[in-house]
Amino acid sequence: MKIKLLGKNLEELKQMVKEEGLPGFAAGQIARWLYVRKARSIDEMTDLSKAAREKLSQKYEVGVTPYSLVQESSDGTKKYMFPVSCSHRRALNVSCGPDAEAETLEEGAVEAVMIPDDGRATLCVSSQSGCRMGCRFCMTGRQGFHGNLSAADIISQFIAVDETDELTNAVFMGMGEPLDNYENVMRAIEILTADWGFAWSPKRITVSTIGVLPNLKRFLDESRCHLAVSLHNPFATERLSVMPVQKAWAAEDIISLIRQYDFTGQRRVSFEYTMFAGFNDTKAHADALVRMLRGIECRVNLIRFHRIPDFPYGTSPDVIINNFRQRLNNSGITATVRASRGEDILAACGMLAGKHGGKTS
Ligand code: SF4
Repeated sequence: MKIKLLGKNLEELKQMVKEEGLPGFAAGQIARWLYVRKARSIDEMTDLSKAAREKLSQKYEVGVTPYSLVQESSDGTKKYMFPVSCSHRRALNVSCGPDAEAETLEEGAVEAVMIPDDGRATLCVSSQSGCRMGCRFCMTGRQGFHGNLSAADIISQFIAVDETDELTNAVFMGMGEPLDNYENVMRAIEILTADWGFAWSPKRITVSTIGVLPNLKRFLDESRCHLAVSLHNPFATERLSVMPVQKAWAAEDIISLIRQYDFTGQRRVSFEYTMFAGFNDTKAHADALVRMLRGIECRVNLIRFHRIPDFPYGTSPDVIINNFRQRLNNSGITATVRASRGEDILAACGMLAGKHGGKTS
């Protein structure tokens, strides 16, 4: 098994070229081929000498994983599925840095969704195969946890999609809990934002979490990317009934932490609130949400729910959702109803792998 170049930062590439006896400037050249020109093979790196390419090819590969399936919605949303496997994982484990202690992935699939919108092309990427957070309304959560994606696996999603050169934004909202795979997600963000990498502004990246508190603090201290927090219910007992994470890290503690940071400038925080009929969509919920978020410069995204089997709630009716939004807006909390995208290809979180991965209940 060859070692992947993808996922290495400039420091690691410098170390690698040193070990291979190549000139130091080759590290910058390789970074450019990987992250700017998006080469799929070492052979394409034509400003390296032929001898250098041959030497590297004996031990290394670029490491882009091609997608195994793509589906396009009538609204232009495209959903990509990527294979992950034990052998793939083991190869990664012997490679480098954040990958070294990653857990072994079982055979499965992860997905990325490209969402075109008003001149932008946002890629929603996965950070884990499966997820250990167990949210009851989520198909990914029902699959259980199969392993962390490496930084290479995450960056590969950006390069393998057909729209790689058109992407403008990224959201870590696909399969998995990004802050449960902190090192690899932060490495991917480093590659996306570094001058030697994709050179994106952190303002183009949003990380979505259900609130892994210790890593959330690290994320807020170490990154300037936007944050989206999955809240879904302001009442602790009700939230716990669908989100086991509430037991370890309560929403109240997440909010207290967020209050310690400044979101009045370029960095934004938003709260995701999926509307479940008869569960979290009453006036009492709206008022409690207002009390919980009062004083935080934020936005609440209200989300319609794609019903899944063996979960008692469907989506709230539009009139309820609009009343809920209005109640938040009238109380000074900016709330919007997120447009559903890609419904005809099941583009909700975890749905594609759930449908095609054969791991759903
Ligand atoms: Fe994991 Fe997110 Fe699904 Fe919860 S909603 S189980 S955190 S992927």
